[in-house]
Amino acid sequence: MSEQSLESPLASDTGTDEDDRPTKPAILRGFRRRCPNCGRGHIFDGYLKVRDQCPSCREDLSHHRADDGPAYLTILVVGHLMAPLIHIAFTRFRPEPLVLATIFTIGCVALSLYLLPRLKGVVVAFQWARRMHGFGQTG
Ligand SMILES: [Zn+2]
Repeated sequence: MSEQSLESPLASDTGTDEDDRPTKPAILRGFRRRCPNCGRGHIFDGYLKVRDQCPSCREDLSHHRADDGPAYLTILVVGHLMAPLIHIAFTRFRPEPLVLATIFTIGCVALSLYLLPRLKGVVVAFQWARRMHGFGQTG
């Protein structure tokens, strides 16, 4: 058996190897709201609008299709953090209902506003790393 027969037929046909876009560093760069390719340029123009090109390396970022994914992930994380915390706070400290509601409202909004652009960066970086949608055509 030759070594060539063990390689993926897709990788040899298209001339791309899977390691030129490693997923984990791209996701970490996305969480820092940086370009998944170079890690320097900001991928957002404002709070959530993804730039068409990285200002640093000119990587085309217009192919992302984040849609509702970042909002879903934000609700997933914030909900799973806040639900047990509100239970612990209520059973341990028994604060006034208005105090509890005020603290957790501010906490949920602040954590959501913090996580939403970072998780959008993660989703865009994941799509870029896996060559999803139009990201595969640019090479
Ligand atoms: Zn870049």
